[in-house]
Amino acid sequence: MGETRSPSVVVLGGGLSGIAAALTLARGGLHEVTVIERGSALGGLAGSFERDGHFYPLGYHQILHRDRTLLYFLDLLGALPSVRWRPVRMLFHLDGQAYDLGTPAGFLRYPMSLPDKLRFARLMLIAFGRKDWSGWEDRSAAELVDRFAGPGVRRSIFERLTRLKFELPCDEVSGAWLGARLHYREGSAPFGYIPGANWTKVLCDGLTRKLEEAGVRVRLRTRVERLHTENGRVVAAELEGGERVAGDVFISTVPTEIYRGLVPREDTPVLGEIRYSALLSVVCATRQPISDRAYWTNLASLDRAAGAIFLLTELNPTIGRPGDTCINFVTHLRDRNRPLFQESDEHLMARYRDDFKAVFGGELDPFWTNIARVPMYSPVFGRHYRNPPMRSTSWRNTWFAGNYRTFPSIVSTGTALGSGVETGTALLAELGRRAELSEAVSRFRLRSMPRG
Ligand SMILES: Cc1cc2nc3c(=O)[nH]c(=O)nc-3n(C[C@H](O)[C@H](O)[C@H](O)COP(=O)(O)OP(=O)(O)OC[C@H]3O[C@@H](n4cnc5c(N)ncnc54)[C@H](O)[C@@H]3O)c2cc1C
Repeated sequence: MGETRSPSVVVLGGGLSGIAAALTLARGGLHEVTVIERGSALGGLAGSFERDGHFYPLGYHQILHRDRTLLYFLDLLGALPSVRWRPVRMLFHLDGQAYDLGTPAGFLRYPMSLPDKLRFARLMLIAFGRKDWSGWEDRSAAELVDRFAGPGVRRSIFERLTRLKFELPCDEVSGAWLGARLHYREGSAPFGYIPGANWTKVLCDGLTRKLEEAGVRVRLRTRVERLHTENGRVVAAELEGGERVAGDVFISTVPTEIYRGLVPREDTPVLGEIRYSALLSVVCATRQPISDRAYWTNLASLDRAAGAIFLLTELNPTIGRPGDTCINFVTHLRDRNRPLFQESDEHLMARYRDDFKAVFGGELDPFWTNIARVPMYSPVFGRHYRNPPMRSTSWRNTWFAGNYRTFPSIVSTGTALGSGVETGTALLAELGRRAELSEAVSRFRLRSMPRG
């Protein structure tokens, strides 16, 4: 880079990874940082929508107690003392029956042989005890489950889970990802929320204020259409309407498929191989009575449109108006070309109404509905997945951040924030500057988990 003055940095995308990168740089002493976001607010996938004065996430969002970077940022915003923790029920809905695998009775009732149940328990114990699954990067989730638990357990449980998550068989999903995910024990600890609020809005609004205070320039409703290059460097982002924003350094936090469409050529290893799953998320509110109220029901028979149904009010009873039940239908799809992703709103809702009936036994009667279609939700962590480098090998002033660099972690708000901090820190180090934010994140410890 070689500049002695503070370089101007342009961050493409104002989701959590872009916000965290910009804040890290501004707090590290860079004075000219601009975030360009196509949406009307910062936050991306952690964004919110409003109904009758209440705010809701695009789909279920829980605070995970191991998500240290997220917890640090909530603390920075003064919101951590408001977080409450609640154990939730997670059900497996299979062939018309609901099983709570978190209870001994539910686990014993689950249709799987007793020897397989013991093998399953053994696999979980092994995964809890092993943090580093990097040796499994070139092997599949099927190999991992078969090795530690056997094909019976894979067919009964894991083939269902990988289809619900990626619409792929275990054989096509990374073993390192599954090992890391089991180690994380996502479902067995209490989940966090903020009473009387949608916590993702508290997070995104608070971070937006922090960016303003730090002097970061934020441009909303502004889509980057292409990146102009000269002598091996990106020199300007061209916006819708033709305006060009020049910069010394660029950080891309948009999905890699979008970024690659912006530059004339991009040969950075791995980047071109990353594919994104798509997501459908419908949130609606009702006042009808609902039986068997679990927060998270996986539709494990794999014959429904939804992969899971969440009752958001079972985690946060105060997210909407008193007395409302807030329901979230979620479907993960292999990619955005799947027929369900293209269905009309009317057909999609008809499918989800059927799912509701199959699970809860009555007609769904919502008084409002919000439909979100996310064409690029998560990188598909297939067998052989590797994180791409942090810097482009084609354009030497271009850096990357986002959840496509956090494999094999689960994709979360905290990993997105962490990736932004990591890239910002590396850029500051190259400029000979310290990253105060990164040091503060590593020092952070969660001290208590008050129950809600
Ligand atoms: C339904 C759902 C449930 C989730 N549940 C949880 C949960 O329970 N707990 C948890 O911690 N996390 C959860 N997550 C994950 C979390 O929200 C994401 O991992 C995180 O927000 C991703 O942030 P990001 O910055 O990496 O990506 P994004 O949010 O995708 O940010 C990229 C940004 O780039 C912008 N952009 C794209 N193209 C352009 C362009 N050409 N010009 C300008 N801007 C552009 C986009 O608008 C977007 O704002 C969930 C996500 C969803 C959708």
